[in-house]
Amino acid sequence: MPALYVVATPLGNLGDITVRALEVLKRVDVIAAEDTRHSQRLLDACGVRTRLIALHEHNEQAAAGEVIRRLGGGQSVALITDAGTPAISDPGARAVARVRGAGFRVVPVPGPSAATAALSVAGFDQGGFLFVGFLPAKPGARRAAIEAVRAQTATLVMYESPHRIGESLADLAAVLEPERAIVIARELTKLHEQVVRLPLGEAVAWLASDPNHARGEFVLLIEGAPPREGLDPEAERVLDLLLAELPLKTAARLAAEITGQARNALYARALELKRG
Ligand code: SAM
Repeated sequence: MPALYVVATPLGNLGDITVRALEVLKRVDVIAAEDTRHSQRLLDACGVRTRLIALHEHNEQAAAGEVIRRLGGGQSVALITDAGTPAISDPGARAVARVRGAGFRVVPVPGPSAATAALSVAGFDQGGFLFVGFLPAKPGARRAAIEAVRAQTATLVMYESPHRIGESLADLAAVLEPERAIVIARELTKLHEQVVRLPLGEAVAWLASDPNHARGEFVLLIEGAPPREGLDPEAERVLDLLLAELPLKTAARLAAEITGQARNALYARALELKRG
């Protein structure tokens, strides 16, 4: 039966290609790839000789039409992107939607993804996570997007490129509580792989401390907001009193010391009170 196979490829380390991914890539009639030159190197290294066609954000409509025409003619097609699982923050999703809409089978061939690779080594045990993907490029929209997820108690997962890592970290630290933990995972599975965990308020200084820190591809994982229900009424009363007299950070710290409640929760509540 003709089908579109959505095939995950390595993030960097070629050894991460799966046995099934190789079988599918060898067997299909054609492979649609985001960047054919980039993917040709992967296929050459893996001994796959299947023909490549381009499917990227600039030719998406026409290329999806070509994939549908081939499927209609009884061919099978694989979809790959530059790294990881297609359709996660890359042009794959719209092509998949069109192929589905045309009534053809779409088959996942799972494997690496930057988000799950980073989550697996972050050590956050909050349970859920919220995949945010790339933050907007424009400063106003970026801050609004961060504000929109500020109260989420799930771990926040974001993608970032070397061009905007500095601006994004600065805005995250400005909008969210600086005490929250951030895990910065860069160059996963590559030579210069690095995974650091630090308070969000220290992230900009970490980036500036070494020019190499701004190089490569990034996943940012940010501890979710502390759950609101935990704050007892007495802690809230003490916080209210201190906030009337002291700066926000000092009030939250002292309220935590006096009441024994979590400083993060008090800080988050103080921010809410201050913002009205
Ligand atoms: N579909 C891919 C996936 O499954 O992860 C993501 C595609 S998106 C266009 C590219 C972004 O993924 C990069 O900007 C970066 O945020 C993240 N990424 C890709 N490779 C990475 C790596 N080796 N280490 C860290 N992040 C990576």
